Amino acid sequence: RAKKNGPNGVLVYEPYMHAEALDRLSLRGDLQRALREDGFRLQYQPLIRLADGVPAGVEALIRWQSPARGFVSPVDFIPIAEEFGLIVDIGQWVLENSAIQVAKWRRDFGDLGLNVNVSGHQLVNPRFADDVMRALAIAGLPSSAVTLELTESVLMTEPDLGMAALHQLRGLGVQLSIDDFGTGYSSLAYLRELPVDELKIDRAFIARAELTAEDLALVRTIVELAQILGLRVVAEGIENAAQLAALRGLGCGYGQGYHLCRPVDPEVVPDQLARAQAGSPVGVLDHRSTA
Ligand code: C2E
Ligand code: MG
Ligand code: MG
Ligand code: MG
Repeated sequence: RAKKNGPNGVLVYEPYMHAEALDRLSLRGDLQRALREDGFRLQYQPLIRLADGVPAGVEALIRWQSPARGFVSPVDFIPIAEEFGLIVDIGQWVLENSAIQVAKWRRDFGDLGLNVNVSGHQLVNPRFADDVMRALAIAGLPSSAVTLELTESVLMTEPDLGMAALHQLRGLGVQLSIDDFGTGYSSLAYLRELPVDELKIDRAFIARAELTAEDLALVRTIVELAQILGLRVVAEGIENAAQLAALRGLGCGYGQGYHLCRPVDPEVVPDQLARAQAGSPVGVLDHRSTA
């Protein structure tokens, strides 16, 4: 791990810590440049209503093709962006761009929701609610069309910090979702107090080659919990027909996953929406043609 691509692509040999620090610094510069020079893109993955295969909304997912590094996964660069305080600006870019995009699709296809992933660093920024509303105003997207996804672990680490912002946003009509649900340690008491509208079951419980009776029992419990609390429930990571059938059988309301539709470039989405409207719902009859 001593060999690293330094600035200008020169190979540098450094002790581990130094090389790591160098890399992080140049990563920061690269992220700043991407922000300035339009280096990020968005893909969209539909959220499918499992009962009838209709796309109820789309989740915006950020993509970064770095000129120097190639494709970098958001799993790798979002934490760095958080660490260097860039996530607020990146998050705002995501919000504005996805809101503008979905407002357009709604003009052609009617009701469609937008899910946006939000970092805890954004949530605790005192301007966050204003920033969200500004993005929606620019796009002309009603707040009721938007669901902000926060991970369970973020909500658990700072239970009080984001609470005011959550209530403020919800008061403005924005919906809230707990992403990767089941991987954190939410107490039921806390969950009941949270002003949320949706639970997304982490794909760790779903995307298994063979769903065991235990997996199924856990997922059933989360689906029932959501029903008791009056929350929408979305299963993440549906990768095959058996998983889809099992989730339908449990009465899970919505699903996402490679079996239904992969995250796709925005140019592809109108086609999918048109086909769904023409009676060929995504993930039910023709799920593989767009993957
Ligand atoms: P997430 O919000 O839980 O998003 C789901 C991830 O699972 C996405 O990865 C998606 O491409 C992937 N996925 C969807 N269906 C399947 C499936 O059937 N099987 C498997 N194995 N994976 C599936 P992606 O796009 O790489 O994003 C990873 C994470 O990065 C996201 O997890 C989210 O936490 C974060 N992220 C992505 N975009 C943004 C963003 O704009 N802002 C922030 N703050 N975080 C983001
Ligand atoms: Mg998400
Ligand atoms: Mg998730
Ligand atoms: Mg995740």
